Amino acid sequence: MSFLNAEEPNVVDLIVDFGLELLWHPSLGMELGDNATRIFTDCATGARPLDIFVLEGTVIRGPDGSGSMDMFAGRPMLEWVTELSAAASIVVAIGDCACWGGIPAAAPNPSDSTGLQFHKRERGGFLGPHWRSKSGLPVINIPGCPAHPDWITQILVALATGRAGDIALDDLHRPQTFFKTFTQTGCTRVQFFEYKQSTLTFGEGTRTGCLFYEFGCRGPMTHSPCNRILWNRQSSKTRAGMPCLGCTEPEFPFFDLAKDTVFKTQKVSGAIPKEVPEGADHITYMAHAAAARIAAPQWSKEDMFVV
Ligand code: SF4
Repeated sequence: MSFLNAEEPNVVDLIVDFGLELLWHPSLGMELGDNATRIFTDCATGARPLDIFVLEGTVIRGPDGSGSMDMFAGRPMLEWVTELSAAASIVVAIGDCACWGGIPAAAPNPSDSTGLQFHKRERGGFLGPHWRSKSGLPVINIPGCPAHPDWITQILVALATGRAGDIALDDLHRPQTFFKTFTQTGCTRVQFFEYKQSTLTFGEGTRTGCLFYEFGCRGPMTHSPCNRILWNRQSSKTRAGMPCLGCTEPEFPFFDLAKDTVFKTQKVSGAIPKEVPEGADHITYMAHAAAARIAAPQWSKEDMFVV
C-alpha cells in the first residue's frame, strides 16, 4: 500500500517513463485466479523472464518447515519464494517483514517467520547468508514499517535502468543512499536534543522539546532518511510529535513490545538512558549532557517555528 503513495517517481512514472512492466501486484495486478497463477508459474520455470522479484511480507516456515500456515495460489508461499528468487535477476525485500522477519518474527514467533536473507540482525534468513541472485547480488533490503514509497520506486528505477552496480549497500544490505544517515538527520527538534531540552508530556505541541529523553525516540540510533525524504512530502513522525520507533532496524519491534517499552525511554537508575546515540559511550554522553543542559541558552528552550 505504501508503494501506491510514491511520488518521486510515482507508480505511473515507473511504467510510462521508465518502461517497467509490472507483471503482478496484489492491488495493481490485472490478472486474477488461474491467469495470475500462470504468470507465477511461467516466471518460476523461466518461460517468462523475471528481472526483479519484489517480496513484501515475512517468509512463514511453520508448521515444521512446511510453510502451510501461509498458502498462496495453491501452494505454501515459501515454495513460490524459493522458485521466484532463483529465477529472478535481482531480488528486493520491501519492509521489515521481508527484510528480517519484522513483527511476526518477534518472540515467541509461533509461525516460524523469518526474513529473506536476515533473521533479525543475523545473516541467513530464509535464503541463507551466501545466497546470490542470478546477477550476483544479495537480496537488496528496503526496510521500514512501512518502507517509504519513494525509497522503493527510486531503487526500482535504478535497477531497471541498469544501475544496480551503483547502489552501495551497508552491512544489512540496505542502500546507503537512504540508510547511511540517521532519522535524526533533518529532525526539526535537533536544537532541543543538543541542549537536552525534553518534551515533558506526550502531545505537548508538535514543535518543542526532544522526544529522546522521556518518550523513547530512537532517532539518534536509527538509520533512515525519514527527516530528509519526508512522508507525503511534508512531515515525519518526529515532526508530528511521535517518537521514532526504529522501524528500519532489524531489532524492531524493540524489546518484543514488552509492557512499558513503547513510547518510554528505558533508563538506568531512573535517569540515565540505557541506549545512547550510536557511537557514543555512556560516560562521555553523560558529561556532554550535563554540560549542554547548563549551557542551554533561552532560545534553545523555545518554539522557533512561530507563524
Ligand atoms: S525527536 Fe528524536 S530524532 Fe528528533 S532530535 Fe529528538 S531524538 Fe533526535
